[in-house]
Amino acid sequence: MRADTRRLGVMGGTFDPIHHGHLVAASEVADRFALDEVIFVPTGQPWQKAAGAVSPAEDRYLMTVIATASNPRFSVSRVDIDRPGITRTADTLRDLRATYPEDELFFITGADALANILSWQSWEEIFDLAKFVGVSRPGYDLHAEHLSAHLDDRPDDIITLIEIPALAISSSDCRARALEGRPVWYLVPDGVVQYIAKRDLYRRATDAPVAGA
Ligand code: ATP
Ligand code: MG
Repeated sequence: MRADTRRLGVMGGTFDPIHHGHLVAASEVADRFALDEVIFVPTGQPWQKAAGAVSPAEDRYLMTVIATASNPRFSVSRVDIDRPGITRTADTLRDLRATYPEDELFFITGADALANILSWQSWEEIFDLAKFVGVSRPGYDLHAEHLSAHLDDRPDDIITLIEIPALAISSSDCRARALEGRPVWYLVPDGVVQYIAKRDLYRRATDAPVAGA
């Protein structure tokens, strides 16, 4: 391993919109794992969500940039939104591995997304591309026992589960609030509140996709 090998967090998400739950998760993992940087990666078309059910990628990208701009250790990658087609985690990690061949990657995921891990495409491959950090999320159990059968010959630290401050915030709830004209202040960064208003996002029922994923 080179002396200048960096430890990079990868925070994938739809970020429709990005909220303080995402930011706290990234910040906590950065601290606990001594990460040099956390790269936020807004999905293109997420494989878990129906086509047309998410806001335009460019809006989600810009909200992610706005939310992370003040943190010198946070950055945003366009790798998923610039790749045509449905985003799969294996593609994200493969592309980032190609960009940062010498660095160590830590894929950060909430308890709900971790629970879906076995349905991810090429999950055997994703475990070879990155380590996984599962973070607690209110309303979801944080456990990885169901993965043990697939992890037996892999090092113990391939998945680490950590408790983080509980923020019961979801993008689905933020969208529902915006649709109903209720506040999203303090759930998302101020600049994101203003961006949602400026672009008139989530004001039509068809813009408010179902919860989950
Ligand atoms: P949606 O309701 O549209 O699914 P979301 O709030 O779940 O949105 P995503 O963009 O789907 O946000 O999530 C990206 C990643 O962030 C996932 O790994 C998810 O588990 C994690 N995450 C989202 N909200 C929280 C939270 N409040 N606490 C911890 N992790 C979270
Ligand atoms: Mg989600």
